[in-house]
Amino acid sequence: MNSIGYNAQTITTSAAYILTDSRQISFPEQSIFFAIRGNRHDGHQFLPYLYASGVREFVVEENAFTEPLRKETEKWSDASIWVVPSSIRALQKLVADKRRNFHIPVVGIAGSNGKTIVKEWLVQLLSPGKRIVSSPKSYNSQIGVPLSVWNMGNEHELAIFEAGISQVHEMEYLQPVMLPTIGIFTNIGSAHDDGFKSRKQKITEKLRLFTKVRKLIYRKDYTAIDEEISLILRPVNSFLQTISWGKPDSGADISVICKPENTGTVISFSGLFGELRFETAFRDDASLENLTHCIIFMLDFGISAPVIQERIQLLKPVSMRLELKEGINHSYLIDDTYNNDIQGLLMALNFLSQQEQRQKKTVILSDVLQTGQTPGELYGTVAKLLKEKSVSHLIGIGKEICSQSALFDVPQKDFYKDTDSFLRDFPFDTLSDSMVLVKGARPFSFERIVHRLQQKAHGTVLEINLDSLSHNLNYYKSKIGQETKVMAMVKAFAYGSGSSEVAALLQYHRLDYLGVAYADEGVSLRQNGITLPIMVMNATMPAFDLLLQYKLEPEIYSRRMLADWIAYVNKNGAQAEIPAVHLKLDTGMHRLGFVKDDYEWLSEQLKQNPAIKVASVFSHLVGADEGVHNEFSRKQFELFMEGALRIEAALGYKTIKHILNSAGIVRFPDYKLDMVRLGIGLYGVEATGQEQHALLPVGTLKTIVSQIKYLSAGETVGYSRKGELKHDAAIATLAIGYADGYDRRLGNGVGHICVNGTLCPTVGNICMDMTMIDVTNASVDEGDEVIVFGKEVPITELAKRIGTIPYEILTGIGDRVKRVFYKE
Ligand SMILES: *Cc1c(COP(=O)(O)O)cnc(C)c1O
Repeated sequence: MNSIGYNAQTITTSAAYILTDSRQISFPEQSIFFAIRGNRHDGHQFLPYLYASGVREFVVEENAFTEPLRKETEKWSDASIWVVPSSIRALQKLVADKRRNFHIPVVGIAGSNGKTIVKEWLVQLLSPGKRIVSSPKSYNSQIGVPLSVWNMGNEHELAIFEAGISQVHEMEYLQPVMLPTIGIFTNIGSAHDDGFKSRKQKITEKLRLFTKVRKLIYRKDYTAIDEEISLILRPVNSFLQTISWGKPDSGADISVICKPENTGTVISFSGLFGELRFETAFRDDASLENLTHCIIFMLDFGISAPVIQERIQLLKPVSMRLELKEGINHSYLIDDTYNNDIQGLLMALNFLSQQEQRQKKTVILSDVLQTGQTPGELYGTVAKLLKEKSVSHLIGIGKEICSQSALFDVPQKDFYKDTDSFLRDFPFDTLSDSMVLVKGARPFSFERIVHRLQQKAHGTVLEINLDSLSHNLNYYKSKIGQETKVMAMVKAFAYGSGSSEVAALLQYHRLDYLGVAYADEGVSLRQNGITLPIMVMNATMPAFDLLLQYKLEPEIYSRRMLADWIAYVNKNGAQAEIPAVHLKLDTGMHRLGFVKDDYEWLSEQLKQNPAIKVASVFSHLVGADEGVHNEFSRKQFELFMEGALRIEAALGYKTIKHILNSAGIVRFPDYKLDMVRLGIGLYGVEATGQEQHALLPVGTLKTIVSQIKYLSAGETVGYSRKGELKHDAAIATLAIGYADGYDRRLGNGVGHICVNGTLCPTVGNICMDMTMIDVTNASVDEGDEVIVFGKEVPITELAKRIGTIPYEILTGIGDRVKRVFYKE
């Protein structure tokens, strides 16, 4: 067919799936791929890979459709390729065209906070009795909205989507894609976003989602929203009917009063729907606001107050986190027990297949939430997905999945009619060395399964936010551009964060290189399924066999080491492929590396030993983070280039040249060369301090309150009676000590712990396993979780207080602290 249409305005496709990320293929023959070009990724690069994987429909951008690519695609006689000015706009148009075929109510949710929670809650509250399609997770972007709306089908009776924007004009594109008929404007934050001139502009831009809605629910207490609705929205939407709510004096259609009670909150309504009263276990303002939006929506939707009351009783806080943690029997657990529909399952399976740490992949799956398909169709799709993702063991739980058991073609399968019988009858010892995905719909209470399968934590956990890590990586990538490679430094247990899990994510992001300090760190990565090239910075002779066996590339830094390596290669070169090496030049650090006097000798040796392949030549700046060393950094660079070019001349081929670490990328972008070595920045600390705002914190160290005591002024706390109380105080003992990495210098008031939002100082000396803090001003109970560092207590601040650097805090976190990895 090969319909390369150069000005093809209309894309006609029968594809069921839209693909924008080449790493997430599930049904290639039924997918259409939109090649999207950002400043860090270019989807066009992956066309040949996708074609080889079976994808046959492609949308590409004029500017990126280069001559070589065009030549390549001309060979694909069975493929359709549409060349468009912008893939994102083409995607939006395709979905907008599809959207117009449906005539069901579509709820559009906009606002600064609460969009995802209101959406998820509405789905929970309305799904008894309604077949609903909704945005998966928080798919609310220029790409996320079309992907969500694409899932609409004839079986659906109601759609609920969210839309988020970060710049002006974005909503104009999302409005026709979603075409909501009912709007909910959750709220507006006071934070000033980079993409907008003012808060007012932010509101008017968000309101553009509602230019065609018949009804808009909003909170009148946000007077700026109220004003803009009258000024901007009404003139362009003459059908608009608003339902506003607010405090009794706000003049809203519905007055709402929230009153705390023993067991929760009572919400009283008066006005539009009469006098009504609802009880909920939620107490915090944000949840009450979100819940009020939901209740008003349901009232307007015709659901009676008693039914609403019954359903809101069952609501739980929304945690859409997908967690990766250590499980029993040397397994890993992926905990995604929030909901279970096909979209959610697909995402979880994609995450599962990214995890190379274990070969064996087990899926514990409940009945999948129905959306109008017959069980045969639904589980047929599920079975195909499991096969595509090479799942080795399926454990199905639920009556429906049991009845479809014959559909599943996996090496091992077991079925249980409910969670209880699984927990009672399953031989848990047999579940070992596996990557286990636990994915179940709410009613199945799969949290009980997670509880049974996970390694018990001792109260202190380091939570690693994988989304933040990706964000930080992308930030640095966008600074250096596509031409420069990235080596991520994952030495010292990935700066304390967990090497194989971090490395698996970096491998997923198709990074170029990983760097470790010692050979055994590299071996451990290989044993956990990491196939990226790995440089080992300090591999001495006894480790050479490991280098060969595990394809690890050594840094060569001295005459003696090069001589050893040459001798080793001459002896063993015939047996195995010899890894390439990386030459380290010492341009001022005076730690490891060849100095200027060695260059002549080095060049000569390399010429004489062509079996030694040099992958890269590099050096390290001693003071990239500080302006006072700028002159020195420049000298280092010059010295490095002189040496590197000389070595390349001797070799007769080009090598990868690199000198920048994280701080260097920020302060010396001109020196980025062929590759950069990214370390601390990946983990959320911007070493120069100049661009800290652009990074997201990655690690949150949490512990729990073991006990609370009420002591009088004059009493002392802890060893050596160091913590003498100046006032009557509530003292909490925490399950963390210096053996966990909470530095002893943080004792006696130097360190602060965040307790339910209040910073509380340490009292007395830090013990090996415990720390005491003054919680007199906090509201806290025994067993509560508290934050040692994270967003509330930045690592940089902690480091400063005890005169050290964030690197030391991060790498000092003890082995017995469990690492939990999660994605939003
Ligand atoms: C650790 C290390 C890096 C990374 O440094 P950051 O300051 O963490 O970015 C780069 N190069 C070498 C040689 C290193 O040892």
